[in-house]
Amino acid sequence: MAPCVFCAIVRDEAPASVVCRRPAALAFMDIRPWRRGHVLCVPTRHGPRLGDLPADDVAAVFALARDVTAAVRASGLPCDDVNLLVNDGPAAGQTVGHLHVHVVPRVRGDLWRALAIGPRRLLPPVPRAALDADAARLARALDGQSV
Ligand SMILES: [Zn+2]
Repeated sequence: MAPCVFCAIVRDEAPASVVCRRPAALAFMDIRPWRRGHVLCVPTRHGPRLGDLPADDVAAVFALARDVTAAVRASGLPCDDVNLLVNDGPAAGQTVGHLHVHVVPRVRGDLWRALAIGPRRLLPPVPRAALDADAARLARALDGQSV
């Protein structure tokens, strides 16, 4: 079985711009963001699809996604609203076989641009330092919440 990059991130064996680390869930910046502030929330336990994981792990991931959503809104990053998205299996567009919830900040009117050119081309590659800075900003916003 091929090594899982998200498991490597969970074990701190691969680089990531971590926003929040909890016992059953981890949030980090997507290295190919659809929008600035795009965060992935993953369970610390490996499982490709929602149905492969215990309900408690799924609940922990979605609770973290809820808190990250609030943090994105409070962070000052461009964000009018937020998409939360799970691609549950390869035919649904899942490219890493470890469950992840996309938290994608959205700005009014950006859908038309996304439809015209495709989400992957909206932003150029983001340097690690910029991802780290946004992760720190979101972590501060997350710490400011009464969770
Ligand atoms: Zn994994």
